[in-house]
Amino acid sequence: MAVKETGRVVTDSMLGMQLADIDRWSDRVTVVLGQNPGPFTGPGTNTYLIGTGANRVLLDTGQGVSAYLDILERAILETDGLVEIERIVITHAHPDHIGGVQGIFGRIGRVPVLKMPRPELDQGVEIEPLEDGCIVRTEGATLRGIWTPGHASDHLCFYLEEERALFTGDVVLGAGTTVIPRDGDLGDYMASLDRILALDMDVIYPAHGPAIREPHKKVREYIAHRELRDQQILSGLGEGPTTTADLVAKIYVDVPEFLHPAAAVSVDAHLRRMLGTGIAERDGDTWLLCARATT
Ligand SMILES: [Zn+2]
Repeated sequence: MAVKETGRVVTDSMLGMQLADIDRWSDRVTVVLGQNPGPFTGPGTNTYLIGTGANRVLLDTGQGVSAYLDILERAILETDGLVEIERIVITHAHPDHIGGVQGIFGRIGRVPVLKMPRPELDQGVEIEPLEDGCIVRTEGATLRGIWTPGHASDHLCFYLEEERALFTGDVVLGAGTTVIPRDGDLGDYMASLDRILALDMDVIYPAHGPAIREPHKKVREYIAHRELRDQQILSGLGEGPTTTADLVAKIYVDVPEFLHPAAAVSVDAHLRRMLGTGIAERDGDTWLLCARATT
């Protein structure tokens, strides 16, 4: 009956959180808020101006909110006087990361856009392809791409070598936990967390929420959070055949109901992994423990 005892590993949340529109997080990193707050984006998407020279890299672009363009322009002026964005780098093709590209082109002109290609989601943006291990250099900053699928198959984190900092995109967030969408893969995601955990890093700059100053502790929390969910789901399945909705109702008793559809997506991600590893099986909408796993 452990399912009734709703343990939580990650106790913070981005609900209602606010961040400054422009904030300088280090000598080479300025965060510019995408102006797209919401239940799943928290204060909005963090976009980052990176570098120390006259030309900077912009990491992620928000989702195309016009108010963002004025704030980006102000950030460029306030950062170190007149700097130019020489390249745009995108962590992954979700709309709140790639959706601002066209608006930025309209404001500053066309610049190269670099990411791991995923043509069906790249919104027609011409991409300069990046791959695992790629290096993106600008004055004062060296970014190494680290392929971290699971939340999205095209997801790259970027390791800023000068600061031992990791831009984690949506793999690790400043508060709360990330969603594994229906086209995501929890097994890949857990492997990505292990990969991040092995890095020598002092700080995480996430795509949503504040910087994380104890990065390894946070990543270990994320891993423990998923392991706890696995236990809760297994416990629920142990009581007999059940549905995703029933599991959500049992596990997420302390979560507002409007977030239950998102919780269902997360529970489904766990169930799909259990299906793949032969722990669970499904019959229509009903999930049950695999007979082989229980004998
Ligand atoms: Zn995403």
